[in-house]
Amino acid sequence: MFLSILKLFAGSHHRKFLRKCAPIVKRINALETEYQKLSDDQLRAKTEEFKNRHAKGESLDALLPEAFAVVKNAARRLCGTNATVCEHELAWEMVHFDVQLVGGMALHQNKIAEMATGEGKTLVATLPLYLNALTGKNCQLVTVNDYLARRDSEWMGHLYRWLGLTVGCIQNQMPGDERKAAYGCDITYGTASEFGFDYLRDNGMALAPDEQVQRDHYFCIVDEIDSILIDEARTPLIISGPVAEEREPAFPRLRQPVAGLFELQIRLVTRLMNEAREELEKIAENKEPSADSLDKLWLAAHGMPRNRIFLRLMENGRWRKLLEKHEGVLASEIEKDRRFHLKERLYFSISERNHEADLSQLGRDTLRPGEPDAFVLPDLPSRYVELDNDESLTHERRAELRTEAEVAYAQASEDIHAIGQLLKAYALYEKDKQYVVHEGKVKIVDENTGRIMEGRRWSDGLHQAVEAKEGVALEKENKTYATVTIQNYFRMYQKLAGMTGTAETEASEFNDIYRLTVVAIPTHRPCIRIDDNDIVFKTRKEKYQFAIKEIAEAHKRGQPVLVGTASVEASETLGRMLAMAKVPHKILNAKHHEAEADIVSMAGQLGAVTIATNMAGRGTDIKLGDGVRELGGLYVVATERHEVRRVDRQLRGRCSRQGDPGRSRFLVSLEDDLMRLFANAGIISSMLEKSFKEGEPLEHPFLNHSIGTAQKRVEGQNYTMRKRLLQYDDVLNQQRQIIYGLRNRALKAEDSRETIMNIVEEEIEARLDIVFPDPDGDADRRAADTFVHWFVTTFHMRIDLEDILARTKAQVILLATDRVRALQASREEHESPEVLQYLERNVLLRAIDRNWQNQLTEMEDLRRGVSLRSYAQKDPLNEYKAEAFKAFERLMQQLRTDTGAGLFRTASSMEALESLMRRAQGQAKATGPAGAGATETTATTPANAPKPEPFRRLTPKIGRNAVVRIRKGPETQDLKWKKAEALVRDEGWEVVETLSE
Ligand code: ADP
Repeated sequence: MFLSILKLFAGSHHRKFLRKCAPIVKRINALETEYQKLSDDQLRAKTEEFKNRHAKGESLDALLPEAFAVVKNAARRLCGTNATVCEHELAWEMVHFDVQLVGGMALHQNKIAEMATGEGKTLVATLPLYLNALTGKNCQLVTVNDYLARRDSEWMGHLYRWLGLTVGCIQNQMPGDERKAAYGCDITYGTASEFGFDYLRDNGMALAPDEQVQRDHYFCIVDEIDSILIDEARTPLIISGPVAEEREPAFPRLRQPVAGLFELQIRLVTRLMNEAREELEKIAENKEPSADSLDKLWLAAHGMPRNRIFLRLMENGRWRKLLEKHEGVLASEIEKDRRFHLKERLYFSISERNHEADLSQLGRDTLRPGEPDAFVLPDLPSRYVELDNDESLTHERRAELRTEAEVAYAQASEDIHAIGQLLKAYALYEKDKQYVVHEGKVKIVDENTGRIMEGRRWSDGLHQAVEAKEGVALEKENKTYATVTIQNYFRMYQKLAGMTGTAETEASEFNDIYRLTVVAIPTHRPCIRIDDNDIVFKTRKEKYQFAIKEIAEAHKRGQPVLVGTASVEASETLGRMLAMAKVPHKILNAKHHEAEADIVSMAGQLGAVTIATNMAGRGTDIKLGDGVRELGGLYVVATERHEVRRVDRQLRGRCSRQGDPGRSRFLVSLEDDLMRLFANAGIISSMLEKSFKEGEPLEHPFLNHSIGTAQKRVEGQNYTMRKRLLQYDDVLNQQRQIIYGLRNRALKAEDSRETIMNIVEEEIEARLDIVFPDPDGDADRRAADTFVHWFVTTFHMRIDLEDILARTKAQVILLATDRVRALQASREEHESPEVLQYLERNVLLRAIDRNWQNQLTEMEDLRRGVSLRSYAQKDPLNEYKAEAFKAFERLMQQLRTDTGAGLFRTASSMEALESLMRRAQGQAKATGPAGAGATETTATTPANAPKPEPFRRLTPKIGRNAVVRIRKGPETQDLKWKKAEALVRDEGWEVVETLSE
């Protein structure tokens, strides 16, 4: 049997892998036959035995054959029993096939196992998960949605539990303690975003070690890895909260002008197209159209590519070819000037392919007449230098002018940015395609699944721009507390592996970015699906009519049809057309995973017609009903080619599971986006030209090839975009790792005081560097004065100027740090050790969190800024890296300063705080300029330490309009005190800090 599998195999590295696996598969099966003689208890005892052997040094690789054999044999023993899966009884009837053993080995070796739909990936994962869980570390499996996490953990849990392992599953909205319990199990199922958010909360927000829920980032198998690492990769996970300070966004103010500009362009292009059409319609077969007409077509292609007249003209292969040629001519270096002047006839140009929209000079002049500099950022650094050199200015006046220049800069850059985003919103984002407006909100539609992505927002102000365009209320931009991209989350795992039906097309990306190799695992039974050639139509309408005819005929025969569509809109249009043709059908409006899975699982029944967006119901197996096999199995009719081949292959893979018969066919029209943007060149246009004269659809293997080429171009482009995003994110990722490392150490440290004192000492030393320009020399009086001022406001105790002037640098460092140490130590009289330890830890955590959150905002702004700067011919990524590095240095400095400043600002109660202040002043035997008045009146109470004082004491000290951060468990909120007060008093929330007075 194994040899026959080998023969089916194509690629050489796949073959090599398989050849290596073959003897191990044999061994597993031999062991499994042996194990059949064991009693249940003897077999179960193997788990403990393996754990011990591993603990004593035996490698997982060495244990693999026995471990896999045990899992396989347990599966055999369970046949005939029932598992309870999502409240249903499900009969267990699976024993691992040989190819599944191979798949398991691939996963254990950190590979991506490409296995067709229906090959039983769920069962495959049990093998490596069992093996790796023998280490005692938490092993994880990522599913595409919550429902599958629950279903698979319960289904496979039947097997794991029998073997003596524990299994947990993470669900959305699950409270912290349940999460912790689930991660505490040997094996944990859950979705990528739940895992990612838990990571962010654990490392960026938890205030005590026992609030952290995750254990290890050891071994993780990602199911449908392409969907998670490629499709989802563009939107990062973000934990955010409302911004405290606000500036009016520029969008409402600029919406009207940009809308007006858009309107002008529509009129311009329509006029040009009417003129061009007039000439082209009259032109004889053997005559060339004028250059002017070609220019006009070119202008439409670049100014308003979806203009109706233009699209209609482009249906004619002759014009399309001429425009292509013209495009080629204009793109050449010699014609640069002409191209430039032509472009200047437009207000802006649109590139759908690159997803860009650019203002021309004409556009700029129209938006800001008479202000040629409105779109140039003021040169801030030169202005600073100029002001600094101007001797005639007083100190105050200089500061004023500096602020003025900064405000002007901020305003200009905000306006430029807002106009750019508004232009994109108008030119590239279509309502009901990329987004819908629902209950007064703009919601993103996932381009792959057609689902609404609840709660997600486009970043960088684009979402607000679209909101302004649609005239709905602008939602506030949130401040980011923590963020990570899915890619970077998964790169943390020591061992990462994946499964999918389709990875081959993205194999090189997986290799480049994640160092993951793809191996195609052969199917258990040969696949006998028939893939028909694509049929190409001239218009969408013709295509749909053909689809309806095809579906109705299959339905009449009783053959079930799965109709794939690219968007929600298309699925509804088809639904209406089918209803008119009186063909009963179901539409998958994928909102509820469970219902969705149910509908899809029925799609193989006699006469069923199911319309689904491409990805809907993924992960659910379509079994054929009685008598369907004889009719040729499930028929997949895809009504559009997706941008990327992978999604198409997935759709095809929905039929012909496990050796079932099945058939698939793709229908394409020249009006489809893919064809319009990427494929209307070369072979296709010349072939179409000939056939379309008779108005007939076209079918030829060549066409499949050219469409494939077009898809490859899109894939390449998407890859570049994702890689770029990752390059930017890598910079942030390094910083995140440093900060989270620091934070975790602070969180888990037994003794934070030492850490704080070291930081304080460093800070004091750094400040004294200025006071003592020569370390062995005398202090500079003015600098010493500044130091005294800083010391007093930071630590609320005095240090005398004379003390400094009379000492060396080393002596001052000692004196100053000793005072701080002594004051902190004196608090032991008034605070319990637990409380003090908690307060000290919080000083660090707060300094870290506040600065890190600011850093995230700064980096976002920076990124926006460098993209504006790319006009200046610099590589934005390098600029970004350099600036990011500087920003991080500033962050570390500020962290030090804030740690010192936070030390004597919190206490467990007002009384403790007041006594601390009294001691601070008493110790210095003088009243410094900073009395208790400079102290924030925040009292913090540790979560678990005994509460030394009732909260009531805190209440009157906070102003009603002060904004405070409160928390309960993992949740935090920033509220005005008048709202927060009741929560603190009655509902167990506690105040973390005062954000503004
Ligand atoms: P995939 O995720 O690869 O598409 P699933 O894990 O959903 O596939 O499994 C598809 C179907 O195949 C399930 O109904 C499962 O019961 C069945 N199956 C998987 N492995 C076996 C096996 N070794 N023996 C019998 N049936 C199996």
